[in-house]
Amino acid sequence: MVDDSNDDPSKIQSLSTNSPNDAGNDVKVSSKDQRDALPGEPQCIVCGRYGEYICDETDDDVCSLECKQSVLSRISKSSSSVGCLPPPKKLPAADECIYVRDTDNISGTPSLGGDHVQAELLRKKLDIHVKGVVSAPVMSFASCNLPDKLLQNIEAAGYEMPTPVQMQAIPAALVGKNMLVLADTGSGKSASFLIPIISRCASHRLMYVSDNKKPLAMVLTPTRELSIQVEEHAKLLGKGLPFKTALVVGGDAMARQLYRIQQGVELIVGTPGRLVDLLTKNEIDLDDVTTFVVDEVDCMLQRGFRDQVLQIFTALSQPQVLMYSATTSDSLEKMANSMAKDTVVITVGEPNRPNKAVKQLAIWVESKQKKQKLFDILKSQKHFKPPVVIYVGSRLGADLLANAITVSTGVKAVSIHGEKSMTERREIMQSFMVGEFPVVVATGVLGRGVDLLGVRQVIVFDMPNSINEYVHQIGRASRMGEEGQAIVFVNDENKNVFPELVDVLKSGAAAIPRELINSQYTTRVFSGGKGSKKRKHR
Ligand code: AMP
Repeated sequence: MVDDSNDDPSKIQSLSTNSPNDAGNDVKVSSKDQRDALPGEPQCIVCGRYGEYICDETDDDVCSLECKQSVLSRISKSSSSVGCLPPPKKLPAADECIYVRDTDNISGTPSLGGDHVQAELLRKKLDIHVKGVVSAPVMSFASCNLPDKLLQNIEAAGYEMPTPVQMQAIPAALVGKNMLVLADTGSGKSASFLIPIISRCASHRLMYVSDNKKPLAMVLTPTRELSIQVEEHAKLLGKGLPFKTALVVGGDAMARQLYRIQQGVELIVGTPGRLVDLLTKNEIDLDDVTTFVVDEVDCMLQRGFRDQVLQIFTALSQPQVLMYSATTSDSLEKMANSMAKDTVVITVGEPNRPNKAVKQLAIWVESKQKKQKLFDILKSQKHFKPPVVIYVGSRLGADLLANAITVSTGVKAVSIHGEKSMTERREIMQSFMVGEFPVVVATGVLGRGVDLLGVRQVIVFDMPNSINEYVHQIGRASRMGEEGQAIVFVNDENKNVFPELVDVLKSGAAAIPRELINSQYTTRVFSGGKGSKKRKHR
C-alpha cells in the first residue's frame, strides 16, 4: 500500500479494488495519526495535514477517516434543515468510500471502496465486535448529524473524538436499534447513550410543540450515586437545548422529584425502587418514553432489581431498549433478547475483563492482619497514592474502618454507604473530590459506573463475593485509559472466587500470590457450598 516516504500526489488508487486488506490497514483513522504536509503536497481541507486520501463524494483531499466524516457531515448539514434529524438521503459513512493515493501508479480511475470490508477493518482496529446489523462506526461527533448546540456542548466537555464505544453505539442508537453494549468501565459509555437521547429529545420537542411534556426517555441505574452522575452528565451535554432532566432516587424527598416531573421533563434518571413507588401510586405517565436505558444491566437483571426493572419496562409502550455493562453473564444476552427483539450486541474489548489500564496487585493477607497492612500502605509515601477508594463489605465495616484509619494513621478518611442520607452522600463525595478527605471507605454504592475523577488507586479491602463486582470496583482506578492501580487483599475467606480471580489477575498480567495459586480451591473442581454451582478453574 502507501509508503509515506515515497508519496506521489498525482497518483490515485481505489482502496478496495486492488488489495482491500492492505489498503484498509493503512488508512489513518484520526487526523492526529496523520503527518504534516510537505511543501507541494496536497493538504487536508479540514485540518491542513497531509491529504493522503481523496474523498470520493467531493473530490476533496483529506488526511483521515475523521476528516472525511467532517466533510460528509458538512454536506449533510447543508442538505438537512432540521439539524437533529437524520438527513433525507443516507450519506455514506467515512470509511465506506475513501481513496488512497497510489505511490506505484497501478490504477487508473478511482472506484467505491468495499463498504462492508472497510467497516470491518475499522472495527478490527478499534477492537469492536458486533452481532447483528449496524452501520459502520463514525469517526467524529460532527458526522452524527447532531444539533449544533449539542456539538458545542460535547466540545465544551472536552470530547475531541468519540471513544470506540461511542463510535459504534451512537449511530446505532440514533437509528433506533435495540442494543446490548458491553465495554470497559470508564470507556465513555454514558455519553454513548446520552448523546442520542439528547439529540432525539431535542428534535422531538422542536417538531411537536406541546404544553404536555411527558418524559421521552428513561435511564435506570443500580445506585443513587450513579444516577446522580448520569443526570449531571446529561445536564452538561443537554445545556441550552429543550432538554430537562429529573432525578428519581430514594433518600431525597419524593414530592420534590414528582413536582419536577410534572413540570415537564425529557429524561428521567433513577433507581428502580423509587420509580416503582411512583408508578404504583400512578403518579407518573410514561406513555411517551421511547428510549429506555438499563445501565449496569447485568447487575440490574440479577439482583433483587430484576422484577422492578421488568415492572417498569412493562409500563412503557415498546420503547427502544439500550442495555449497558462492563461485565456480562451467560444468561444476559438471552434475557436482553427477551426484553427487546433484534437486539444488536456491541462489544468493545473483552467483557468481564479488568480495565487494561488498571494494574492489579494481589496481596495474601489473613483477615486479622488486613487493617495493619492497610495502615502500612497508607503510611508509606511510596505506596499511598491519594485520592484512594477503599472497598469493604459492610456499612458498619465502612464506618469503623474510616474511623480507625484516621485515628491510626492521621490520614483523614470518610465512609460512604447506603445508610447515609442522600444529602450526606453528596457532601461526602464533594469533599472527597476536592481533596478534603484523601481516603473514602465505601461499600458497593461506589462500585459501579461512578466516575471518580482523579482516583488512580483503589484498595479492595474485602473481596466481594462476585468477580464481576471486583472488576467494576477496580475499574474505578482508571478513566479513559489513564493508568491506575488496584490493591486487593485476599485470603481463604474468599475461596469462592479463587478460580475467577486467578483468571482476572492473569488477564491483567498481575502476579498471583503463592497461597492463591496453590490453594485447593483454585485448582480443584469444588462445590462452593450449599446451593451453589460447581466451579472449575478455566
Ligand atoms: P463513562 O465510561 O461514561 O463513565 O465515562 C468516563 C469518563 O470519560 C467521563 O469522565 C466522561 O466525561 C469522559 N468521556 C466520555 N466520552 C469522552 C470522549 N469522547 N472524550 C473524552 N472524554 C470522554
